Amino acid sequence: MRIAVYPGSFDPATNGHLDIIKRSAKLVDKLIVGVLKNNSKQPLFSTDERVELLKRLTKDMENVEVDSFSGLLVDFLKEKHATIIVRGFRAVSDFEYELQIAQTNYSLDNNIETICLITRVEYSFLSASIVKEVAMYGGDISKMVPLETAEYMNKKFKDNKS
Ligand code: ADP
Repeated sequence: MRIAVYPGSFDPATNGHLDIIKRSAKLVDKLIVGVLKNNSKQPLFSTDERVELLKRLTKDMENVEVDSFSGLLVDFLKEKHATIIVRGFRAVSDFEYELQIAQTNYSLDNNIETICLITRVEYSFLSASIVKEVAMYGGDISKMVPLETAEYMNKKFKDNKS
């Protein structure tokens, strides 16, 4: 059984993330979306909120699971009996970072392979931080995120205001 983990902060999940989930799920028997708990950046959404949103977004995808993790990614893979890491690649600016973490994970466990999927052109400039910035100033994020994410964002900004 080919099991892969797609790790990230997903703060919040965007159309770019969802596209990588859908495409990589076709390549493996099981895909686990791993939401990173101990994020150095202060996240907008709690880990539980990020997991819950991703579960809603992937509910019709039979071979996709969502879970959270902290600590080393390679340990999370071991726990899940996974041997593949999925990452998404937007631009050259992603390359150096992705290369560094892929090499590090390989040196920690050489049974693990990282596969990077190239983003669709329409999502090349899309990141969770851009979405947050646009939403914070009342901009339209409907083309950047699924409807469920937009609802989460609206609710979060309303709750933060009150
Ligand atoms: P972000 O950079 O949006 O804050 P994450 O830390 O959650 O995202 O990223 C998880 C993975 O998803 C990373 O490999 C990242 O490169 C990838 N990713 C993020 N946004 C996109 C996108 N628009 N297209 C393709 N891959 C993406």
